[in-house]
Amino acid sequence: MAIDPQTLAELKESLLKEKEELENNLGRIAKPASDKEGDYEPTFEDIGRDIDDNITEVEQFTDNLPVEITLQKKLQDVLEALERMDKGTYGVCENCHQEIDIERLKANPSAKTCIKCR
Ligand SMILES: [Zn+2]
Repeated sequence: MAIDPQTLAELKESLLKEKEELENNLGRIAKPASDKEGDYEPTFEDIGRDIDDNITEVEQFTDNLPVEITLQKKLQDVLEALERMDKGTYGVCENCHQEIDIERLKANPSAKTCIKCR
C-alpha cells in the first residue's frame, strides 16, 4: 500500500469521527434494526392516538425516511472503509483496482472509487 502510516492514521481518525457523527444523527431519527453494525430503521415519535396524531406520525416517518437512507448509506461507506483499512485493501478503487489519489481520500476518506471511475 502506497499510503504512509501517518496519513493512514489521519484518515482513520477522520473516518471514526465521521462514523460517530453519523451514528449520532441517525440516533435521532432511527434505531438499530439488527445486531449488524450500521443497520438502522427509521423511528417516529408516538405523539398520540388521534387520527390527526397518527397522520403527523406518518408524515414524520415519511420525512425521516430519505434522510435515514442517506445517513445509513454514508455510514455503511465509512464502516466499509474502516474494514478495508483492517484488511489492508484501503485506498484501492473497487472498480479498476488502481490506487485512489491521496488528495481524493483526504477530501473523502470513505471513497470507494478513483476519480476516473466515480
Ligand atoms: Zn478506478
